[in-house]
Amino acid sequence: MSSTLHCITAADISTAAEVIAGHAVRTPVMTSRQADHIVGAELFFKCENFQRVGAFKFRGAYNAIAQLSEAQRRAGVIAFSSGNHAQAMALAARELGVNATIVMPHDAPAAKLAATRGYGANVVIYQRHREDREEITQRLAAEQGLTLVPPYDYPQVIAGQGTAAKELFEDAGPLDVLLVCTGGGGLLAGSAVAARHWSPGCRVYGVEPEAGNDVQQAFLRGEPVRIPVPKTLADGAQTQQVGRLTFPIIQDYVEGILTVSDAQLCRQMRFFMERMKMVVEPTGCLAAAAAMNALLDLRGKKVGVIVSGGNVDVDKIGQYLALAGEN
Ligand SMILES: *Cc1c(COP(=O)(O)O)cnc(C)c1O
Repeated sequence: MSSTLHCITAADISTAAEVIAGHAVRTPVMTSRQADHIVGAELFFKCENFQRVGAFKFRGAYNAIAQLSEAQRRAGVIAFSSGNHAQAMALAARELGVNATIVMPHDAPAAKLAATRGYGANVVIYQRHREDREEITQRLAAEQGLTLVPPYDYPQVIAGQGTAAKELFEDAGPLDVLLVCTGGGGLLAGSAVAARHWSPGCRVYGVEPEAGNDVQQAFLRGEPVRIPVPKTLADGAQTQQVGRLTFPIIQDYVEGILTVSDAQLCRQMRFFMERMKMVVEPTGCLAAAAAMNALLDLRGKKVGVIVSGGNVDVDKIGQYLALAGEN
């Protein structure tokens, strides 16, 4: 265990919980007898697909913008994101009376582009494979005096994301295992800090797509690993490298990183629709798929599963369900 001082503590998550109260939804914790039967465990699904903008990202975005100085809020915020962080920043900024500029790739899902514009943000498009989004973002931030709020590597974002796990422990009680999907690691790091404080002894695992297992590689190697943009349906976890701030927390507080195939994600999406009557995006299926495919021995345990989001192009659902038959 490293002795690094982490960028947040449980107290920051408690503060975030107060900041977002009445603005973010306290999402339901759902259960399924069928899922419990398949896994032989008691599963508690924390349903962030029912969060505002359809994903947990609203928690971190709202907490981050709300804690900026008056001068920073007057100047406005900027973010780069292929999806849910964009919508979350746009809506949180609008609610707090702050101008938002969002830098998005040309191939972001149409629904996500439209939603971001719909929340009143100024959207700047870049070519994912040719242009460097961070460079574009830094230039706009410098020119216009905007404050950059990154999607995961930022203390108030990590603390905000941790409020979902805090609520889960409050509602379900202490858990033996918590499964959390991971892209850049903001949700996982925040959840791990929450687990340590509100459910000591709970073992936390990260889950990522098989095709983009940079966090798993980093975890095993002990340092961040950079990978090419992974080809996976889990577009919320297409990150190329774990965060600089999130990684030390993951190293210290997380037991291991599991991986799930795209076909397993599609089968999980189908299960959520058929059995639990809810729409979950591929990335949001990662943690549940790890539980339902017995990647860990969960028998007899109380298991928390974070369902991270529900933003899926509805026109593509048929294709996804067709892929559920493959390996
Ligand atoms: C952003 C996102 C993730 C990954 O979160 P990180 O904090 O980057 O690890 C997972 N699922 C959904 C739905 C997301 O929007």
